Amino acid sequence: MSVWDAVVGQERAVATLSQAVHRRLQPSGLAHAWLVTGPPGSGRSVAARAFAAALQCGDDGCGRCADCAETLAGTHPDVTVLATDEMQVRKDTVVQLVRRASVSPTRGRYVVVVVEDADRLRDVAANMLLKEIEEPPPHTVWVLCAPSPEDLLPTIRSRCRQVTLGVPRADAVARVLVDRHGVSAGEAAWAAAASQGHIGVARRLAVDPDARRRRREVLQVPNRAVGVPGAVEAAQELRDIATEESTAAVEAAQEAENASWLRTMGVQTPEELPRQVRAQWRELQEQHKRQVRRSATDGLDRALLDLLSLYRDVLLVQAGAPVPLVNADMRADVERLARRLAPADVLRVCDVITTTRRRLTQNAALPLALEAMTVRLGDPAA
Ligand SMILES: [Zn+2]
Repeated sequence: MSVWDAVVGQERAVATLSQAVHRRLQPSGLAHAWLVTGPPGSGRSVAARAFAAALQCGDDGCGRCADCAETLAGTHPDVTVLATDEMQVRKDTVVQLVRRASVSPTRGRYVVVVVEDADRLRDVAANMLLKEIEEPPPHTVWVLCAPSPEDLLPTIRSRCRQVTLGVPRADAVARVLVDRHGVSAGEAAWAAAASQGHIGVARRLAVDPDARRRRREVLQVPNRAVGVPGAVEAAQELRDIATEESTAAVEAAQEAENASWLRTMGVQTPEELPRQVRAQWRELQEQHKRQVRRSATDGLDRALLDLLSLYRDVLLVQAGAPVPLVNADMRADVERLARRLAPADVLRVCDVITTTRRRLTQNAALPLALEAMTVRLGDPAA
């Protein structure tokens, strides 16, 4: 058992990180700023937390001691994880992190600061961080996570030791579903393929019938987006599915947080809260709403990726390629689309979906962008 067990299908990255921990006392020492990059669902923050745990552990990340357990549970006093629910990390947040990083470790050997969404650091916040990682205190280790190195200022990434995660192979994802979640081998293989290497999505697809239903609904969108009214309806449906998905993804954690907050205050319902803490309660509820909104954008992106995978399958069928389909369970629909559409139209549709994904992150007028996309899905030759 070790903290690295949780990092699925990333042998190279794990080798780099665990060697750094192992050799931290050698003359070359330990790099004090790290950048972990990889696509959504590849396990960036899992890898960053495992690294933090291994640094605190007396045994390179045994996975059993208090330092390992507390780091992974998010309660280690010398490990700070910034997981923002905003589109931009605020300056004040970085000020707090820098202050935290400058204090000596209370118990562990290092102060480790993990920034899960370093790509959301802009301007002032990014420059403050840059100053900090140029000359960090000897006991401090920064671990920044982002989808790709290009998401950070060149000045920041050049000061970081870089670790790249890939899309985990489907068989590695499937193995986790079988070993840790008791899913049957067949179901696991299907969920791993349908998730396209996103571990969290694969787990939801394997264990949650609602997640499976939502995926099927997304993949039906091209059939329903007929004519402009159908396209408008399909666009709305995509947003509803994404909202449902995102609510489901964060609901349990938020409920637990509410319950523990109320317990701390010695009450059972928000109505019983003393007047002086009600503002704090409201702030927590606002934070939860922001979380759902951010998660809805992620959910929508996920839906678009599912649609892209459908059209990729269509192209494969049209080309007669002997490659397994991502959406093998929807083969009939894939074949119908393959007969109906010209390959050039399929490629055009893929372009439109890709552009729409980009617009999601740019905060463009979302309903319009989606409608423009579904109109094209309904009539690819237009
Ligand atoms: Zn340990």
